[in-house]
Amino acid sequence: MPATSLAASDVQQLIDTRRDFHAHPELAFEETRTSSIVADRLRALGLRPATGVGGTGVVVTIEGERAGKTVLLRADMDALPIQEENETPYRSQNPGKMHACGHDCHTSILLGVAKQLVANASKWPGRAKLCFQPAEEVGGGAHSMIAAGALRDPKPDAAFGLHVWQDLDLGKVGVTSGPMMASVDAFKVTVTGLGTHAAAPEKGIDPVVCLAHMITALQTIASREADPLQAVVVSVTQLKAGSAFNIIPPTATMEGTVRVFDPTLWQELPGRFERIVQGVAQAFRCTAKIDYERCNGPTINDSGMAAIARAAAAEVVGESNVVDSVRTMGGEDFSAFLLEVPGCFIAIGSRNEKRGLVHNHHHPRFDVDEDCLAIGAEVLLRTAHQFLGS
Ligand SMILES: [Zn+2]
Ligand SMILES: [Zn+2]
Repeated sequence: MPATSLAASDVQQLIDTRRDFHAHPELAFEETRTSSIVADRLRALGLRPATGVGGTGVVVTIEGERAGKTVLLRADMDALPIQEENETPYRSQNPGKMHACGHDCHTSILLGVAKQLVANASKWPGRAKLCFQPAEEVGGGAHSMIAAGALRDPKPDAAFGLHVWQDLDLGKVGVTSGPMMASVDAFKVTVTGLGTHAAAPEKGIDPVVCLAHMITALQTIASREADPLQAVVVSVTQLKAGSAFNIIPPTATMEGTVRVFDPTLWQELPGRFERIVQGVAQAFRCTAKIDYERCNGPTINDSGMAAIARAAAAEVVGESNVVDSVRTMGGEDFSAFLLEVPGCFIAIGSRNEKRGLVHNHHHPRFDVDEDCLAIGAEVLLRTAHQFLGS
C-alpha cells in the first residue's frame, strides 16, 4: 500500500469529486460547471481564485508561511466528444460527451492538493500557483491561459502537472527526464490540377497521382532526413478527392500530423514539409496550398525537476515502482508551460487488469482504478513541497 498522509475522508472526497466531474463532462472551453465548482471549492478554503482565465480557466495562489519560490501546479478539466459505453453509476450523463482521458481525475486531484496546501500552510515556504486549465484536448487551453497571464505575477520558478496513465499499472509512477511526449503539428494540403475525363488524362492534370507521390515523399522526413535515433512520425490520415470513377477531379486534399521529440527538429519541420510538398506539386504540374498548424510543442521534462518528482514519487510508491522511461508520440499541451518554465509532467499508473480497467485513453470504455487519485494527490503534493523546500 502506498504511503499516504491523506485522511480517509480526503481520499473519499477525491473519489466523490472525480465521479461528479465524470458524470458531468464538458468539452473544451465549455467547462463552466466544472470551473464554477472548482472556484466554489477554492473559495470554501478561504482562497480568492481568479475565474475566466483564458476562457474557463481558474487560477489561485496559495501563500506559505514565509517568502520563497513559486511552484505552478496544473490540472486540465475538459472532456471528449465520445459516447461513454461504461455502465458505472457515475457514467456520463451528457450524451456524446465523456471524460475518456481522465481529466476529471486531474481536476479532483488538484482540488485535493489545494485543500492540503491550505491546511498545512504554516509548514511550507513560498507560494503555490494552481492552474485549472480548459481545453487540453484541442490544444488551445494552455496557450490561452498563458496569454491571459498565468505565468506572470508571480512568475513561477517551476511547473508540475500529472496525467493518469493507462499504460502503467496502479501503484507505478512514471517520471521521465527529458522528452516525454511529442510535438503535434497538423496539416492540410489541397492539390489543384485540372479535371478531365478519366479516359483522357493527357487533357488534364491529375491531382490524385500528385497527392499519392506527396504521401510517400513525406515519409522521407522520418526515414531520410532525421537522425535514425530520433523519434519522428508522419501520418497522413485523411484523403478526399473525386466524385466518380470516370472523372479525374480538379482537386485532391490530404490531412495528417507530424510529431517529433526534438525541439530543433520541430523548428525545422514546417520548412521541410513545405519543400517536399511544393517540390512534388511542381514536378507534377500541380499547385499546392498548405495549411500547417502548430498544435503543441514537445513535452520536455527538466532533469532537475524530474529528480525532485522522482524522489517524491519514491516516497509514495517505493523506489522500485517509479518507472523512468514513459514516453509516447501522443501530445500534451502542458508542453506550453514547460517551454517557459522548468518542470516535469508525471504519469500516475491507473490500469488494473484484475478489475477490467484496461481500456486506453479516448476509448468509450476508458476508466481508471480510483486508488490512483490518492497516489496522484500525494505525489503532486510532495513534489511541490520538495521543490519549495529545496
Ligand atoms: Zn486525451
Ligand atoms: Zn489527457
